[in-house]
Amino acid sequence: MDESLLKKILGAVEKRRDNIIDELTELVASDSTLGNEHQAQTIIKRTFEGLGTEVKEVTIDLDKLSVLPGFSPPVTSDTDGRVNIVGLHQPNTVTGKSLILNGHMDVVPTGPSHLWERPPFEPYVGDDWFYGRGSGDMKAGIVAYCNAFAALKDLGYQPAANVILQSVIEEECTGNGALACLDAGYTADAAIIPEPFGESCLIAQLGVMWFQLKLTGKPAHVLDTSNGSNVFDSLYVLTNKLKELETEWNKQEHRHQCYSGHDHPINFNLGKVHGGDWASTVACYCEADFRVGFYPGMTLEYVKEKLQQTINEADIASDIEVELCYTGFQAEGCAIEEEAPLIESIKEAHRIVANSDCKTLAVTCTTDARFFQLYGNTPATCYGPVAENIHGFNERVSINSTVQVAQVLAVFIANWCGLEKIK
Ligand SMILES: [Zn+2]
Repeated sequence: MDESLLKKILGAVEKRRDNIIDELTELVASDSTLGNEHQAQTIIKRTFEGLGTEVKEVTIDLDKLSVLPGFSPPVTSDTDGRVNIVGLHQPNTVTGKSLILNGHMDVVPTGPSHLWERPPFEPYVGDDWFYGRGSGDMKAGIVAYCNAFAALKDLGYQPAANVILQSVIEEECTGNGALACLDAGYTADAAIIPEPFGESCLIAQLGVMWFQLKLTGKPAHVLDTSNGSNVFDSLYVLTNKLKELETEWNKQEHRHQCYSGHDHPINFNLGKVHGGDWASTVACYCEADFRVGFYPGMTLEYVKEKLQQTINEADIASDIEVELCYTGFQAEGCAIEEEAPLIESIKEAHRIVANSDCKTLAVTCTTDARFFQLYGNTPATCYGPVAENIHGFNERVSINSTVQVAQVLAVFIANWCGLEKIK
């Protein structure tokens, strides 16, 4: 890319800084936790239309998706008005490579809002930080790719290849939003998801599985606890037994090569417990929700077998019944070659804009990149801004970083898709 075009692109994105903050403010102010995504998706639909793309709504048809690889059992059966928004750009003449720019609009719950310094859906700016639930994960990323695209248009250019903008739902629990878009036929020569991974380029992600243990015991008055079997006592035992499997998988000999330098890649988390009904009654029923991570290459069947085996081996009271069931994430891990053209091209764009080497990253979570990479024949990665406390209190994203990511994406689009003058 010649120096003068580069300067123009960087300047055009920088000029959009206030617009970036405004768009982010509107999106973060729209609570888009599971089931509530409608308002935020309506906003992004308008944005995609404003960018001149042909906008489509893609629904999540569970019957249709349930037979596809990558499907996860839903955590809500409510699909009413819950759509993915897709914006299609077609050039006058195709000369470059096609691209999907994908982001998820759903955000995770806030937890007790009194533990936030300010209400989670009342975004505000402090120095370079933009605060609010979903700011980093990942509304800033969506705003960044929209403004990268818009900045090129400001200069009178558009991508000389098909570009598909996607704002999907359910990334945080099943991935069925991205799966629905894939099933609708949207593939490309590459996909980028600006997840908040600190301007590093994703080369591997873990598999993630959610499961639930339903424990049933025997109720009794606490005055004679020996007469009952407390499910919470057994849950402690089961959790500790599962932690043994976590320890085992973290041993160097079990690791996928991308995770050899990691401190503790595999994390098992007991995230939610419901159960018991009275402080003076031996608890006889509980449901416990777990999340486990596992390496690329481990099949879902293997993981399930290991979990069942571990639970069977736990030394719990004989009259406690344990049922294991699966809802939510059944996500395989995946990796992409560091030498892939997509990765090299992102690194190059980052180097030009940030004037530093782009780090690569093997993350210990999952992202929607798996759908493109594993089932869509579309090389995929994540590259997004610096953020802190994602999924925590006082989540925040760096504004400078968001602007810079938009610059990198604009340069990437120019290189990858090529540019043509808007007629
Ligand atoms: Zn995310």
